[in-house]
Amino acid sequence: MKLIGLLGGMSWESTALYYRLMNEEAKARLGGLHSASILMHSVDFHEIERRQHAGDWAGTADILAEAAHGLKSAGAAFLVIATNTMHKVAGEIETRSGLPVLHIADPTGHAVAGDGIGKVALLGTRFTMEQAFYRNRLEDRFGLQVVVPGAEARTAIHRIIYEELCLGSVTDESTQVFGDIMTDLAAVGAEAVILGCTEITMIVDPATAVLPTYDTTALHASAAVRRALEQ
Ligand code: GLU
Repeated sequence: MKLIGLLGGMSWESTALYYRLMNEEAKARLGGLHSASILMHSVDFHEIERRQHAGDWAGTADILAEAAHGLKSAGAAFLVIATNTMHKVAGEIETRSGLPVLHIADPTGHAVAGDGIGKVALLGTRFTMEQAFYRNRLEDRFGLQVVVPGAEARTAIHRIIYEELCLGSVTDESTQVFGDIMTDLAAVGAEAVILGCTEITMIVDPATAVLPTYDTTALHASAAVRRALEQ
């Protein structure tokens, strides 16, 4: 099994999910006491978040490229960046660290398109919903039509992610906000919804959601283990 290089801490609430999911996947595939071979660098999210909101993406790339370089030096075979948003600088991290990135949009796009879905809603931080880096990859590589909620809903989701979910808080009120937004997206023809922020899985229950959900945290973690087990 190859050593998975995990860039975590963005936030640690979702990185903890990755750790469990990757180990569960390894156990499901290999049985017995098998678990995933993982090397993690978990960053101080305060330093990342501050730079994101200041528009200093080069600064975030500096922190993450250096961490990724360390993971490569310590023997990681490839990189899992445990956040959708920071894939904005995935190319730069890959180039500067020399470690290939398993892009989170790829297993996601593959799963959505593989289920025959054409029009899909994308929920995530404002950066992920509003900028091109993520939706373009889904559209160009997987032929998906990506829709995002309106401005007010995007602001609400962004706030809930940074002020609640990344701090481990899940409230009934915010659960209802996500429910209402997904109902609106279904009304404009979305056939499914991508939980395109690694913490959204904490607040959206697929069993009660009005649309089929694609959980990027679970899809990415599972793809990482499959890649680690490739010959
Ligand atoms: N984990 C979130 C994501 O998947 C947001 C935190 C971040 O900005 O990295 O986008």
